[in-house]
Amino acid sequence: MDFDLAPGVGEFREEIRTWLDEHLVGEFAAHRGVGSPTDDTAWDVRVAWERELSAGGWLGVTWPQRFGGRGLGLAEEIVFEYEYARAAAPARVNTQALELLGPTLLACGTEEQCARFLPKILAVEQMWGQGFSEPGAGSDLADVRTKARLDGGVWHVDGQKIWTTFGHHADWLYVLCRTNPDLSLRHKGLTMLLIDADQPGVDIRPIENINRSTEFSECFFSDAQTPEDMVVGAVGGGWSVVMTTLGMERGSALMPMQLSMQRELDGIIGLAKRNGTADDPQIRRRLVDAYIGIRLMRATNLRVVADLLNIDAPDPGAATAAAAATTKLFASTHHQRMGELAMDIVGPAALCDNGDHLDEVSVIQKLFLSSRAETIYGGTSEIQRNITAERILGLPR
Ligand SMILES: Cc1cc2nc3c(=O)[nH]c(=O)nc-3n(C[C@H](O)[C@H](O)[C@H](O)COP(=O)(O)OP(=O)(O)OC[C@H]3O[C@@H](n4cnc5c(N)ncnc54)[C@H](O)[C@@H]3O)c2cc1C
Repeated sequence: MDFDLAPGVGEFREEIRTWLDEHLVGEFAAHRGVGSPTDDTAWDVRVAWERELSAGGWLGVTWPQRFGGRGLGLAEEIVFEYEYARAAAPARVNTQALELLGPTLLACGTEEQCARFLPKILAVEQMWGQGFSEPGAGSDLADVRTKARLDGGVWHVDGQKIWTTFGHHADWLYVLCRTNPDLSLRHKGLTMLLIDADQPGVDIRPIENINRSTEFSECFFSDAQTPEDMVVGAVGGGWSVVMTTLGMERGSALMPMQLSMQRELDGIIGLAKRNGTADDPQIRRRLVDAYIGIRLMRATNLRVVADLLNIDAPDPGAATAAAAATTKLFASTHHQRMGELAMDIVGPAALCDNGDHLDEVSVIQKLFLSSRAETIYGGTSEIQRNITAERILGLPR
């Protein structure tokens, strides 16, 4: 997919392609397509690759220059993400900070918070984890119970978070806390705090997932402390900060997914042709369905890009708002169907683990297993359907 969205973007695209050709080599090239925002496979190689990207000035393309970014526009960011997905470069490790916390700080944080944290994120010196969900508060995030109390200019935090992606790699956590003990206030009593993970009051315990990857963690806070000025937004205004973060998780972060799914499907089709399953009419039909689904995602992406950049959009903003919920719902279920199809194409060998994470069968097993989580994280499919029904279609609750 080529974009000529604005003057200079063509040159920018050539610059990325040339840089990727020159730098995505050796061990980095051997890890093409490895990892995901929820898979910590080959962590050290991917950290090294992220530092390479940082040195090349490819992190924080749209972030202000005073915080270490390139200060470029949305068109350049979209082009970068597409070229990155096309090259199948290893998945970035600090997406929590690059795609979620960083933009949230730029939107809701103070100048001091941005100056302190953003340059370190771009230099790949500081990893972040998201502490929103709790054992009793996931879909219903307004029920968060982790408490924070301000005493002598210091916040004291007690409680538990769970499913913190890459929490055991995190240096800092952004944590949704209840700062007003009155539970009936629900979302009005919440505040977002930035908490240093390296302190005695924070205990992070990794959880192994279905893929045997230690992808996420439980985080326990026992009088964890953070200074008064580590509040993002207003005290009691944590809900609007969370909504800013989740809007990014459900929307823009999904845009390049269609390209990586196309790459996966090309591999699955190649395998089906090689092992003869492509002659089975049922497999052929499912492969065609998989192809059509990805074309639908492409068409939606193009509508969203046109909408974001306001190119001939009849109703600016409408396509993006609708796509944020529906793209996540469609992409996650479509990806799961692709995983099931790929396992059927592999056949009985799909049941065996050969221990080589770069092997073709292992990659397919991982696709099948890890896609199970896609209809849960970032808001479950049921929640996306509720949002679509109530906020986009205007149906009653
Ligand atoms: C791989 C992965 C990574 C994650 N990373 C993070 C992270 O980094 N940080 C973080 O804070 N959290 C993270 N999460 C947690 C994730 O946000 C929650 O799992 C998710 O919001 C669902 O919450 P829950 O697990 O408590 O399920 P529940 O909310 O208990 O839901 C259980 C079931 O009930 C359904 N349900 C709930 N409410 C409704 C409703 N109103 N209408 C219809 N159906 C409903 C749900 O759809 C679901 O099927 C991650 C989860 C996964 C799987």
